[in-house]
Amino acid sequence: MMAGQAPRSRRNFTRHSLHLGTPVQYLKGVGPRRAALLKAVGVETVEDLLNYIPRRYLDRSSVTSIAKLRSNVQATVVGKVETFGFQKGRTTRFVVILSDGTGFLNCTWFHGLEYLPKVFHVGDTVVVSGPVTFYRGKQMAHPEFEILSGTDHELIHTGRVVPLYASTADLKRARLDSRGMRRIVKPALDRLGATIPETLPSTILESNGLVARWQAYQNVHFPENMETAREARRRLAFEELFFLELSLALRRSRRRQKSDGIVFEKANGLIQRLLKELSFQLTSAQKKVLHEIRADMKSRRQMNRLLQGDVGSGKTVVALITMLIAVENGYQAALMAPTEILAEQHHLTLRGLLDKLGVQVTLLVGGMKKSLREQALLSIESGRAQVVIGTHALIQETVSFERLGLVVIDEQHRFGVIQRATLRRKGICPDVLVMTATPIPRSLAMTIYGDLDVSILGQLPPGRIPVKTRWLDDRKREDVYRFLDAQMSQGRQVYVVCPLVEQSEKLDLKAAKEMATRLAKEVFPQWRVALIHGRMPSAEKERVMQGFCDHHIDLLVSTTVVEVGVDVPNASVMLIEHAERYGLSQLHQLRGRVGRGKHQAYCTLLANYPLSEDAKLRLRSLCETNDGFRIAEADLRLRGPGEIFGTRQHGLPELKVADLIEDVSLLRVARQDAFATVEKDPELSDPDHGPLRSTLQMRYRRKMELADVG
Ligand code: ADP
Ligand code: MG
Repeated sequence: MMAGQAPRSRRNFTRHSLHLGTPVQYLKGVGPRRAALLKAVGVETVEDLLNYIPRRYLDRSSVTSIAKLRSNVQATVVGKVETFGFQKGRTTRFVVILSDGTGFLNCTWFHGLEYLPKVFHVGDTVVVSGPVTFYRGKQMAHPEFEILSGTDHELIHTGRVVPLYASTADLKRARLDSRGMRRIVKPALDRLGATIPETLPSTILESNGLVARWQAYQNVHFPENMETAREARRRLAFEELFFLELSLALRRSRRRQKSDGIVFEKANGLIQRLLKELSFQLTSAQKKVLHEIRADMKSRRQMNRLLQGDVGSGKTVVALITMLIAVENGYQAALMAPTEILAEQHHLTLRGLLDKLGVQVTLLVGGMKKSLREQALLSIESGRAQVVIGTHALIQETVSFERLGLVVIDEQHRFGVIQRATLRRKGICPDVLVMTATPIPRSLAMTIYGDLDVSILGQLPPGRIPVKTRWLDDRKREDVYRFLDAQMSQGRQVYVVCPLVEQSEKLDLKAAKEMATRLAKEVFPQWRVALIHGRMPSAEKERVMQGFCDHHIDLLVSTTVVEVGVDVPNASVMLIEHAERYGLSQLHQLRGRVGRGKHQAYCTLLANYPLSEDAKLRLRSLCETNDGFRIAEADLRLRGPGEIFGTRQHGLPELKVADLIEDVSLLRVARQDAFATVEKDPELSDPDHGPLRSTLQMRYRRKMELADVG
């Protein structure tokens, strides 16, 4: 942003005016070129620079002498460069030989050959970290490295802690490796000293044992010891999470002060009649959740609630009852699902019940015939359709509702924020219930889903037998087929989910078709085998789904379209081909298709070797537990929140210090404190809260606009 600005303005940033907002370009030793490189890693201002916290530290206790190195162990070594150069072989490598007085260590690189020779000098003191192997002497391949200056070297040997920063090749080339970073950060911190303004009220600092902000910045970059470094980082992570939560708390409070929601007074006749039609009693968890929903709908506030419940916990009937409340009060209700198959299945199951109650239900999905579609649009527009079930076809321009009062979104984690917001705008402030089966830690869920209120369906319907999960080598295929045959002989039904092929729907489809043909003709000629996939015309899909529900089909071959929501209690086996290619949550969702009835159910994972370590971890986790909460945590650890909840999805600002997984307990406290603060002082008008207000305004002005549509 500032890189191209005329140097004239440099005068504005004199010694006294250095502050957090100062562009880094005006720091001593930075200049336009380095400023541009720093910008690429998100550092534009002095504040950004201070938030570019060390990735790790080097303290004396973590350094091993070369003599004591053991094979196959990660180690950190400090040594002097004796010599370096290229070694030709099958592939050329760059080698640096270090010594530390106790022995020699060969460090080798196969990449970066063009810039590495420029980085090292004979006599430099270098710190390297990496895995040690013994191969023609002691060796480290592709170690992480830092070149230490004379003073660093002393620091290490006097027991100080040296910060190491993440550094890209570009930064290194511009001599902005850890040493370069320290040279910029240190004088900036020295000049700022205690002038770095505090952002948190003293009560919050005290109750959480947090150090002052200026101290935290000093200590996170130049700590006395590892303990002060940890405390400093904790303070900065807390601050980041606190402001995130504060902005959510404010939005929620503003929403709750508004009273433009629909008041749904009546909630009796239809629901009583429905309960009589159901073949089961609601669980106490379902009743509790419905109670919360009911209270929202009755109030003048617009409902904005997340219903979280593991696969099979019975969310659909909760959605149905919620929709009946809207219908009973003369409004239309819409249920949006992420796939056509799921929308069609909801339509199938709900229509049966709604017909008996005399409630009009209409399906609207993309793959419908034109005439049917027009009919559907008409009945939605005229208000004749009281309940509308569909996919994102519901949010297209051409769809207009007569009197939309409630929107339910199923499997909401599959939709983007923007899609959700579009649907919501179709009604005049309709109430919204979003449902998800991805049970992540509560505080994390509440953060990712912004300012939603959360209800938890923490109990499965009674009598469920846990699914038995096995993981087998593909070579055991014959045994697996014998097992499927036995299950079908006992009157059960089977899903076979086909391999995911390289993100290509076309190839997936081909694999599924081949599998279906082979199973039908060669393996199970005596059973009724059918195929279902996302590209089928809607009517065809509905026919197959209905056939499977009615047990006119024994074995259903499918692409991953059955992943979410499909409910056929008599199905007892889920066979997943190439299970190693799926993510953990996806596997759990697939498994959730079985174990919904009174029979023992099985999930069989066929995997093709060799498997990556990650794949093994995924399959092992799945076999170990049926608990969606634990699965989600493992998944979160394996993939990280970034990949699971893409930014587009959750609209959260990027965190620089805190980590949504590692710091989840810190998140909980920060959230509590932030919400309590807003509860007491909704306008943040208390003089003690002045810094909170101004910090929020500065930090979130841009980012919150995106999050606002959530
Ligand atoms: P999910 O939460 O995964 O959407 P569903 O709503 O599809 O779960 O419900 C799973 C199965 O459990 C369905 O067959 C449904 O009819 C059944 N079910 C729901 N609630 C109950 C209950 N209280 N008692 C018994 N079975 C129930
Ligand atoms: Mg469901």
